[in-house]
Amino acid sequence: MASLHKIIFATSALALGVAVPAFAEELNIYTTREPGLVQPLLDAFTAETGVTVNTVFLQDGIIERAKAEGESSPADILMTVDFGNLIDLVDAGLTQPIQSDVLSAAIPETLRDKDGNWFALSSRARVVYAAKDLDLDAITYEQLADEEWKGRLCIRSGQHPYNTATFAAYLAKHGEEATKTWLEGIKANQARAAAGGDRDGARDIAAGICDIALANSYYVGLMASGAGGDEQKAWADAIKVILPTFENGGTLVNISGAAVAKHAPNKDQAVKLLEYLVSPAAQKIYAEANFEYPVNASAEVHPIIAAFGTLTPDSLALSDILPFRKRASELVDEVNFDTFSN
Ligand code: FE
Repeated sequence: MASLHKIIFATSALALGVAVPAFAEELNIYTTREPGLVQPLLDAFTAETGVTVNTVFLQDGIIERAKAEGESSPADILMTVDFGNLIDLVDAGLTQPIQSDVLSAAIPETLRDKDGNWFALSSRARVVYAAKDLDLDAITYEQLADEEWKGRLCIRSGQHPYNTATFAAYLAKHGEEATKTWLEGIKANQARAAAGGDRDGARDIAAGICDIALANSYYVGLMASGAGGDEQKAWADAIKVILPTFENGGTLVNISGAAVAKHAPNKDQAVKLLEYLVSPAAQKIYAEANFEYPVNASAEVHPIIAAFGTLTPDSLALSDILPFRKRASELVDEVNFDTFSN
């Protein structure tokens, strides 16, 4: 079927006198994203273009692998989550700048590299899960350290990129001393060790271990929709979601994104895939299958996510947070964030 399509495509292109790169009907992606989340998007791309997409799922070590392969790397696209991970790819010299009017038009300027080395494909907010019956309908990130929450807060490791990015944003806004005090406050508020995943925050609220948790927005969709099974659906039923804001600011938003690999053998197709991924059709899949916020404003947010309220992203650009990432990670260790002692 694929080869038949290839023949038809090549023949019709020839008839039209269009230059078609020979044997460029394949594309290789290295991704840290769960295969189940990415596959519906790639299948849709293949159905539309006939281009076969091969996926190499690498939980860790995407940089090491691409680096070791060097110029002979078959990778066309490097795909990952978290702004910091994308920057790490650029810093490792594994990306190449891409100029595309389609990408520029679809993705807001703050969600792509000005040189075209990386592009956001979807976004997610760092939100607060709260026990459903809790008398709370608004909270700031600053207030997470308030004494009111002593022994009542669940959070994953302070060194996880989702938290490091959050703490780096805090550091960018408030400076080192205030951030250290804030981290100590959050540590004092922990109901259990800072460990596990974001969904465990909902699990532990359901179990009565904590009253609030800091976690990513899309997990609520995965739990509430039943995609994660009945047990997780019960966790989602036990919580409500609050979009926290920084004092005088908005909600912290992070991204999933991708870059065209420096030595991409199929560069043109790689750009086409990125352009497809920010199209309204693909952005709908991001919203419906992954429960992420689309980056393309013409696509709609999933109703489960829209129910959290209107998202007002903080005005701090991801690139402004970046320089604080390393120091934020050091502060996590300095306050022994992950050592439970309450
Ligand atoms: Fe995640």
